[in-house]
Amino acid sequence: MSNGKSIDQQIKHQQTIIRFCKKCVVSNQRPRIIFDEDGVCSACRYAEEKNSSIDWALRKSKLEALCDKYRRSDGRYDIIVPCSGGKDASYVAHLLKTEYGMHPLTITWAPFIYTDIGRQNYDAFINSGFSNLLCHPNKILHRKLARTAFEAVGDAWQPFTYGQTSYAFHIALGMDIKLVFFGENGEAEYSGASKTKEWPGMPWDYWSEQYFKGVTVHDLVRYGLDKDLISVKDFDESDLTFYAPPNIEVLKERDIQFHWLGYYHKWLPQENYYYSAKNTGFCANPDGRSEGTYSKYASLDDRLDGFHYYLAYLKFGIGRATSDAAHEIRDGHITREEGIALVKKFDGEFPKKYFNEFLDYLSISEEQFWHIANSYRPSHIWTNNEGNWTLKHPIWNEAEQLIDA
Ligand SMILES: [Zn+2]
Repeated sequence: MSNGKSIDQQIKHQQTIIRFCKKCVVSNQRPRIIFDEDGVCSACRYAEEKNSSIDWALRKSKLEALCDKYRRSDGRYDIIVPCSGGKDASYVAHLLKTEYGMHPLTITWAPFIYTDIGRQNYDAFINSGFSNLLCHPNKILHRKLARTAFEAVGDAWQPFTYGQTSYAFHIALGMDIKLVFFGENGEAEYSGASKTKEWPGMPWDYWSEQYFKGVTVHDLVRYGLDKDLISVKDFDESDLTFYAPPNIEVLKERDIQFHWLGYYHKWLPQENYYYSAKNTGFCANPDGRSEGTYSKYASLDDRLDGFHYYLAYLKFGIGRATSDAAHEIRDGHITREEGIALVKKFDGEFPKKYFNEFLDYLSISEEQFWHIANSYRPSHIWTNNEGNWTLKHPIWNEAEQLIDA
């Protein structure tokens, strides 16, 4: 299993000269990020706009108008909020219900394996007064898709992403609910993709293009069948339904819409945390922080998620602490120097707590794990000295060079 067999679409587009943003800690290895002539990343530029030129009062009035148009008074749900009980979506659902008078149906695409705190937060969220549909896909298929994705795209997490993206729209169609609200526009917040910044939500054509341009669930299934990682006996075609988007033309015809709350209200993860702790019983990680970072309140639900961040670290040389620090620098909570120190201390920490469960879930040995994982380390990012992998260009070296100069 070499990198040559990977069908991952992201690593093909990596630049081989590594540069770090002058304002935050992200590097140009992050997919779709753009650096301007001053060496500042597009996500930092978007954060500046959030704090200066965007008229938030106007945006809020747009949300009021949208809700006024679609709010129902006939006893039916009028909005879908995909929510696992995490801090961000809990905030979205609660705000739309209490401040905007909407009647949300919340839906959850189940984690691979709940953590105790993830399940506790999910229960607390429902107990705070929300209707919820929890969807578990066929677990024989789901495990094998995760196993296949780990090898094929270097990320076992991929089948979760498919369902998290698509499931809501199947329910919206089936129940004729016109609005689906997600939290932040990840493209603008993290990559700063400029054309998406002005969008209140994802246009269907762009959404579908993004989905079909990458590795689809059908590509994964084909790969798995070819390599005997999946058998035709493991699933029925219908089991794939929620992993793929519904027909885009039907979504358009029926006026189903995809919105981001982050377009209408300034998106501040730390504020979402305080809000959901107060209103929906959200609790932070009882371990004090998540492995691979210093933060305690993001992405807590799934025992497998540490490996999603860890593999991203191998592929791009930047991990979970880099993402968290970059966002907090942009929000003005920490300085760039503090961010670099946090990255040096936590980025790429191996998620050992659930390693055995990860291996069991995928039915692979530790040796197979490292064989596949290491095949995803690009040579312009990593160097191997007698079995010890080190980053060729870590951000803290860049800082030392600057100090020396
Ligand atoms: Zn930046």
